[in-house]
Amino acid sequence: MEIIDKISSALNSKDILCFIQSSSALYYRAQHPSFWKHLCELNGINYCHPNVTWKELFCSGELSNMCPHLNTNMLDSSFIQSKKQLIWSHLKNNQIVCLDSSCDFFGEGAYDTDHYATDKHSIILKLSLLHMMELWCNHCVKTIGFDYFHSDTKQGSKSESYIMKKLTKKLGSVTQETDNQLITKRRQEVESDIFRIQFRNSTTHIIQKDWHTAWLDFISGKTIHHPGPLLNTKLSRQDGTLNPALFLGKDFELIGNLTCWYIERMYGVSGTIVSSSK
Ligand SMILES: [Zn+2]
Ligand SMILES: [Zn+2]
Repeated sequence: MEIIDKISSALNSKDILCFIQSSSALYYRAQHPSFWKHLCELNGINYCHPNVTWKELFCSGELSNMCPHLNTNMLDSSFIQSKKQLIWSHLKNNQIVCLDSSCDFFGEGAYDTDHYATDKHSIILKLSLLHMMELWCNHCVKTIGFDYFHSDTKQGSKSESYIMKKLTKKLGSVTQETDNQLITKRRQEVESDIFRIQFRNSTTHIIQKDWHTAWLDFISGKTIHHPGPLLNTKLSRQDGTLNPALFLGKDFELIGNLTCWYIERMYGVSGTIVSSSK
């Protein structure tokens, strides 16, 4: 089997589909998702968006554009817990935190590459008070999962974005008593800042009033409990368009780009956020 794996990893997806037809044993194996997962892993990629199959990901031809330094081990709770304290105690503008599991480096300067030059640790988190957490790969020289404000249809970047969002959400979540004071207070500060300047040079986005109210209660310090994922399912009609019978301030509120970006990463969204041009 190892030989087949080697051949398979050397062929492109079209050739592989033909190659699979040539042997019934191989054809049988290729019916299992694990076959395609293994091929992706041979290409250095061990993560995939849940709505994308391993076969689709492999056949998309996007594996070579994906960051192989990103991996699902980064979602393990022991890893998350070890990085959380580091990140939230150093969260200020222009800081970077190394996301290598054996390293606790943090430093000044979002574009500082000295640490990468000496330690070869690829993935870092760039911290800033407004953009919060930007996942950056020094080796691939790119921001991971940066999809601006529209969802990307490419399966490779969709998968990168999926891991990035999961990771940032976990890094910002309060799961233990010890997280509470540090993370809650810092999040309230950061989110209040975002709230204040969110409409600068921004399009507007429409979100449900009930979530917005719960969020304001959190950032104003009224409660220490953040509102959880944004449920934005009550605003659209069946055809996906905005229900015209709804009222601003009663049923919905407007948010700016920064808040929208932040909510998608740190809270997660069910339903769609309807956006309007300014
Ligand atoms: Zn990379
Ligand atoms: Zn490092």
